[in-house]
Amino acid sequence: MTVSARPDARRNASPYLYGPEAEAIARVLEGGQYGHTDITEEFERRIADFLSVPDAVAVASGTAALHTALLAAGIGPGREVIVPSMTFCATVMAILAVGATPRFVDIDPATLCVSDQLVMDALTDKTAAVMPVLFGGRPIDLSAIQEELDERGIVVIEDAAHAFGSRHDTRRVGANEAVLTCFSFGPIKNLTCGQGGMVIPRTPAEADTIRRIRLLGVVQSQGERANTTSYRVDSFGLRYQLSGLNAAIGLVQLDAFQAAEDTRRHLWRTYCDALAPLDGVTLVDLDVDQAVPHLCQVRIPHRDAVFADLRSRDIGVGVHYPPNHTQPAFAAWHRFLPATEQAGQEILSLPFHQHLNRTDIDLVVAALEQALKSVGGL
Ligand SMILES: *Cc1c(COP(=O)(O)O)cnc(C)c1O
Repeated sequence: MTVSARPDARRNASPYLYGPEAEAIARVLEGGQYGHTDITEEFERRIADFLSVPDAVAVASGTAALHTALLAAGIGPGREVIVPSMTFCATVMAILAVGATPRFVDIDPATLCVSDQLVMDALTDKTAAVMPVLFGGRPIDLSAIQEELDERGIVVIEDAAHAFGSRHDTRRVGANEAVLTCFSFGPIKNLTCGQGGMVIPRTPAEADTIRRIRLLGVVQSQGERANTTSYRVDSFGLRYQLSGLNAAIGLVQLDAFQAAEDTRRHLWRTYCDALAPLDGVTLVDLDVDQAVPHLCQVRIPHRDAVFADLRSRDIGVGVHYPPNHTQPAFAAWHRFLPATEQAGQEILSLPFHQHLNRTDIDLVVAALEQALKSVGGL
């Protein structure tokens, strides 16, 4: 049997638009204000309501969310931040951006996430923050060690770029008031603004700090803008605001988010059933009632050969992620992380996005089975 992929199965990930996004952007363009606008603030309020949190601060990207969260938590040079090596490089770059030192930590092989014990074992007297990554959408609960972290003055900053909409018990990720949560609304995330990010701060002071940073530290009341030739720069800042154009996309996506949850869960369950009969293939499990799945990952033998074979069949496979502690840019902080290194050689991300249907998934799984046979993995 030869398998030829439908266009949707050729992509590993893909943004999903619900329809009204283009019209929403057109309205912003016609309004003539493209920067930080009322629409950005409306988007913040709507996200805060959706998550049942007091406040949410919009920024230009998930990377900017992580960077500003670290700044708001006062993390800087000479301090260490515990971070899993198994994450997108952006998490590590945010730590370097504040001049702190990443301390790479291993993962639980079953979830690809950090655990209480792994975090505790990695603590040093320089540890200033822990950045758990909610891999694939899995919520992470560090509440068993929260008190200990609080006593040592260690801040938890969640990288929830994969996990918008996921729940922990009855609450959405972001609603834990003990931690700062950072979301990405990049092109292929569960909810997209085109580009964008959001920080859920712990306190009004943190929210205020991030709101200053994202507008270059410039303070200007409406009256001042009209009546003076000058403006005031109060503090350090960057061009990190979320434009109204991007926020308008996000508002449409938030209105439609129930469809994202339902479709992603349905696709994940479909993969789960289709993969079950395959020997030698382990699905990286998640609790699909709690998580809004962001990736569908398997662990397989001969991953590189299977990857090449599937790519030659036009199946959009990927690897999330090559471990960061083995990347040249982060060589100074290399440590031996056995579970991460093994996962790095075995994980394969199957096409996972809301354009897929049952036919695509059957085709991907059939191609995976063929690829495994042809490289001798079954
Ligand atoms: C996407 C992503 C980021 C960065 O978000 P951007 O919006 O692309 O800047 C950070 N961490 C993880 C795990 C991501 O997947």
